[in-house]
Amino acid sequence: MTTMNLTNVDKVYPNAKIKSVENFNLDVKDKEFIVFVGPSGCGKSTTLRMIAGLEDITAGDFSIDGVRMNDVAPKDRDIAMVFQNYALYPHMTVFDNMAFGLKLRKYKKEDIKQRVEEAAGILGLTELLDRKPADMSGGQRQRVAMGRAIVRDAKVFLMDEPLSNLDAKLRVTMRAEIAKIHRRIGATTIYVTHDQTEAMTLADRIVIMSSTKSADGTTGRIEQIGA
Ligand code: ADP
Ligand code: ADP
Repeated sequence: MTTMNLTNVDKVYPNAKIKSVENFNLDVKDKEFIVFVGPSGCGKSTTLRMIAGLEDITAGDFSIDGVRMNDVAPKDRDIAMVFQNYALYPHMTVFDNMAFGLKLRKYKKEDIKQRVEEAAGILGLTELLDRKPADMSGGQRQRVAMGRAIVRDAKVFLMDEPLSNLDAKLRVTMRAEIAKIHRRIGATTIYVTHDQTEAMTLADRIVIMSSTKSADGTTGRIEQIGA
């Protein structure tokens, strides 16, 4: 069971005058696939990054299975994240990119090998484990980014516009693969996209975020109007 809970969450970036996220509340159910949609700048990435621990939460609480996570380091959260730009290490092979998070968490060598090979099999990367990102297509890099996330069997999966750098045809293929992987591993998921079709096909629940300005134009705000 993996549930998540965000209560009255605010984010103010250092030096920023306005809140990038204000009073955000969300309960995520076990194995649920939530999709965040909303205009650029409304705080979707910021919210994911707070969940992953890559940004501090300014106010409010975030918990997983009832345990408060606000002050837990990213590597100690059972969360895997896929980024829009993939964030692969260019000097490392596909194998090492996928193994990196496991090494960081001191998994045993044999276990790492087995997990990386299994994920590579699922994603069609078996023949590419010795390649470096520069020698791969965009679609292949995207698969490596997915692979790096799934090797860990994390409880929570976060994806920030993972398909937006792919062409339309590949997006459709990868969308179907993401749905398949979700059915297979069943991690509780939050997925950010601009693409309505992606949202409709993947989501158990769509959360629509909007940013509004107060009368004096100083306050950014998110509303959860979908559910
Ligand atoms: P979205 O993902 O919905 O496009 P973001 O979460 O990236 O929105 O951004 C929300 C707001 O926070 C925007 O106004 C953005 O300019 C601001 N913001 C994002 N990152 C930073 C940062 N590192 N420092 C200051 N402001 C930021
Ligand atoms: P995970 O947490 O999924 O195991 P990693 O351990 O591979 O991910 O990466 C840890 C952090 O390092 C991530 O938050 C990611 O943003 C960052 N990162 C990974 N690759 C790069 C890169 N090439 N450049 C900058 N940052 C990166």
